Amino acid sequence: GEGLPRPEQTRIIVVANQKGGVGKTTTTVNLAASLALHGSRVLVVDLDPQGNASTALGIDHHAEVPSIYDVLVESKPLSEVVQPVVDVEGLFCAPATIDLAGAEIELVSLVARESRLQRAIQAYEQPLDYILIDCPPSLGLLTVNALVAGQEVLIPIQCEYYALEGLGQLLRNVDLVRGHLNPTLHVSTILLTMYDGRTRLASQVAEEVRTHFGDEVLRTSIPRSVRISEAPSYGQTVLTYDPGSSGALSYLEAAREIALKGVGVSYDALHAHIGA
Ligand code: ADP
Ligand code: MG
Repeated sequence: GEGLPRPEQTRIIVVANQKGGVGKTTTTVNLAASLALHGSRVLVVDLDPQGNASTALGIDHHAEVPSIYDVLVESKPLSEVVQPVVDVEGLFCAPATIDLAGAEIELVSLVARESRLQRAIQAYEQPLDYILIDCPPSLGLLTVNALVAGQEVLIPIQCEYYALEGLGQLLRNVDLVRGHLNPTLHVSTILLTMYDGRTRLASQVAEEVRTHFGDEVLRTSIPRSVRISEAPSYGQTVLTYDPGSSGALSYLEAAREIALKGVGVSYDALHAHIGA
């Protein structure tokens, strides 16, 4: 793949929004594949009991497979559950199985219940450039574990009516976790998903989001694309399912922006430079 600057330290990005269906999983797997295709080593941690990220990456996650549940609840080393993603070099996945549905409750009585994922990641010795964590659509202990483990939060926002509703609650949780458990945590990235530039509503919501969040909003937005929604049923990301599609190109571009922001290069500056 095309080379991009790799971070000096592993960047841990939590993909969160307690609203379902906004594109968290789609964004996690396609950004992860894009970063890997750009030459990075990337681990996807599937923290949603639905296991959609595992499915989309073609990873076996039936009930007997060692999974992130074993890591969180049974203290199994992360290295014992990570699987390579076929077809994408440098991409790995820690799958979720249906067991994880019970973890939200089982975690309550365990010691260090909020920092079990953080500990597992700290003990993982394989070199990685990025870890992307796909959160469930709730703000319970699984999402808290992700926020404690991460440095950055990426919030996908679907450009529809009520897009910003409920975000206040997520932002307050980020503040709480930063204040008490993880001082480095911050919202680094907002990504507009399922964007349809032909509709007035989508462009109005996009403008509102840009006004509200400013520089955190990526210049690249992800278009609504049938190819993106078809890919998971083939156990593939859109990057291998249809590499030339608008969906694939937009995720590659978003990944580029994220990689460059990580080394302090703003996208506008880069393009001004190329244009000059
Ligand atoms: P979440 O993880 O937030 O619940 P998903 O990533 O599963 O959301 O996306 C919800 C649904 O929308 C899925 O069926 C997915 O295939 C579809 N989807 C996501 N992004 C796009 C897109 N850019 N274009 C078309 N369909 C999309
Ligand atoms: Mg999901």
